[in-house]
Amino acid sequence: MRIEAIDLFYVALPEVTDAADGTQDSFLVRVRTDDGLEGWGESDASPLVSLAAYVCPMSHGNIINLSDSLLGEKVETPEDIRRLHFKAHRRAMDIEQVDHAQSAVDIALWDLVGRRLGKPVYALLGYERTYPKLPYCSVLFGDDPQSTRRIAEAIRNKGYRAAKFGWGPMGQDEETDIALVRAAREGLGPGSRLMVDAGVAWHLDAETAYKRACQFAPFEVTWLEEPLFAGAVEQYARLKELGSPVAIAGGEGCNTYRAAEDFIRHGRPDFVQIDVGRIGGITTTDEVCRLARREGVIFVNHTFKSHLQLAASLHVLGGVEEFQFLEYPDTPSPLARDLTTRRILRDEDGLVRAPEGPGLGIEVNMDTVRTYLRPVRIEIDGRTVFASKPL
Ligand SMILES: [Mg+2]
Repeated sequence: MRIEAIDLFYVALPEVTDAADGTQDSFLVRVRTDDGLEGWGESDASPLVSLAAYVCPMSHGNIINLSDSLLGEKVETPEDIRRLHFKAHRRAMDIEQVDHAQSAVDIALWDLVGRRLGKPVYALLGYERTYPKLPYCSVLFGDDPQSTRRIAEAIRNKGYRAAKFGWGPMGQDEETDIALVRAAREGLGPGSRLMVDAGVAWHLDAETAYKRACQFAPFEVTWLEEPLFAGAVEQYARLKELGSPVAIAGGEGCNTYRAAEDFIRHGRPDFVQIDVGRIGGITTTDEVCRLARREGVIFVNHTFKSHLQLAASLHVLGGVEEFQFLEYPDTPSPLARDLTTRRILRDEDGLVRAPEGPGLGIEVNMDTVRTYLRPVRIEIDGRTVFASKPL
């Protein structure tokens, strides 16, 4: 079967704000083949910049848009997907957005081939089964310690056994930072896991990050995430050298396999968090997951999108028993919440499993795509190079 169409969708809430909430818009790709099958994928990236990587005119041999490299190609097996991943990436290697943009089509191709072969994606990746994961309810800190405590209490009441608080006022000053973490712990109560996402609060300052890690340690923090800038590999290594009493996590800013490799090998985090919608899709995320395993670093998904993308992450890490944590966004926008016809829910033990159906095992809700679709038209010299398909 050959790729007949690559359909691109920009969807967004009517109003988008500057809150650190990645569920306000999205970039979706549907791949269709000449035998009537289709697969879906989603990038966690600027939708229109990503869309451009699929339709921009050729500049030279290293700037060829992704659609031109993929249309008409045979795609029947995992080897085909890997071959096409390399081909499209090679021919678009001077497009800075290519890894973000390519994530969606790569995920869609795994979904599609899984449907063709009647197998879940994790099986295509070589795993016989998957293991349940402990979802951590991923939320933002409240505006102050009081509201953070209320958010934590609500999470406890929902029955979560782990929660991550991030961004918001963290990094303002020492007193507030400690009060926020204390409030989160008090609201959750003892016994459940608490992760802290500092949202790159201390930039390049490993000494302050170390000091905060020491100050947060009494609140039994499972990890301190992104205390420093994403690319600050030397500073992460310095933090490790200082002997942080709290485990260090990061990696959502690794937008390429090479960035992830550099961070794992030289930044020496305890946890590496990879976004399947940014780093190039399932193909690249699977490679990083295997690298992390070899290097003794715990792989965790970074996911702040719909359950389409949560499913993609689950298929990658689901087959590895020792990678037990799953980022689970708890308060998505209606767009992200309703993008799939069903959501991946916790079982009676509070754990989450990869869907078992063919492909990603989850279906896109076309009514939701229709509701939030932002029609796009791109013209050059009066000639249309892209126009959103009517749904
Ligand atoms: Mg984070």
